[in-house]
Amino acid sequence: MTATRLPAIETETTSCALCSFSASRTRGEIRMDGQLVGRMVHCERCGLRFLSPRPTQRQRDWLYEQEYHSGLPGEHGETRFASVKADQDLALVRFGRYLAQLEGIRRTKREGRARLLDIGAGTGQLLELARERGWDVSAIERSGEACQYLAGRYGPGSVAGRDLTDLEGAAGSYDAVVMAHVIEHMPDPLGALAMAHHVLVPGGRLLVATPNEASLYEWLWQVRQRRRGASAANHYVAIAWREGCWYREPVHYDARSLIEFQILTTEHLYFFTRRTLGEMLRRAGFAQVNWASGSAAPASSRFGRLVRNDLVNRALFLLDRHAELVAIAEKGRTA
Ligand SMILES: [Zn+2]
Repeated sequence: MTATRLPAIETETTSCALCSFSASRTRGEIRMDGQLVGRMVHCERCGLRFLSPRPTQRQRDWLYEQEYHSGLPGEHGETRFASVKADQDLALVRFGRYLAQLEGIRRTKREGRARLLDIGAGTGQLLELARERGWDVSAIERSGEACQYLAGRYGPGSVAGRDLTDLEGAAGSYDAVVMAHVIEHMPDPLGALAMAHHVLVPGGRLLVATPNEASLYEWLWQVRQRRRGASAANHYVAIAWREGCWYREPVHYDARSLIEFQILTTEHLYFFTRRTLGEMLRRAGFAQVNWASGSAAPASSRFGRLVRNDLVNRALFLLDRHAELVAIAEKGRTA
């Protein structure tokens, strides 16, 4: 173990994003070199699970920047490109399923083409598929480089902005909004859902997909990790169960590993169940919430790699079709 250290990590505490209650119970801690990076808690009033304290937005931006420029390999030593490419192939299957849920909206559009906004569009795989299926597409994307790429590919008008606040003047502009595995990364998920409601036409639909914290998969995975004790969850992170709490620890003490560890363990700020996500959608103003069956294909990219590279994890995951939450929320016609 070398003496490699990262600069002190800026953290912030937050009250419950769903009910504003400030009392919460600790479920696990994320520590590195004795430094508290984040704490997994659940709200004592409504049960929402989230990180508090958590790295500040500035800290998270810094981490993603480091990751982007560090040329890190994939989690299991494969090249970054190979792992990202494999994730994209799986993602297309899921994106097709999401768009099928919104197809009724597109078909019943009376005048002009139906408009779809993808929040957190990345490099636009979902937009590509949506355009093929007859949607007019727009994106919100945080990465400046991805925005440039999207504008080049789909036209300058296709990038609605880099931040949700760029949508303030766009009330009633979209027939459908997609948030595919982004809400769990957002510091203000209720504000994000309210903004999606704001930009939808009356009767428009929002699709939200996120990992299901209450799934059989999550539960079995945690039981298994407890039995194993401190074991490597992947190339960079070990998970341990000690004194009633989860701990995640870096496997290697070098700068790259520590950066990857921080990103991996703190990129999800919220952990939803059907109950907490449904309640948050109603608070954001949605009149009706329906649920589609989730995907058996691995969800987020890192999680996908974690599942694919471990046979038991993979078997557990495939057994559980509820590992992913897919909510379709409708904006009231009279709102
Ligand atoms: Zn709460």
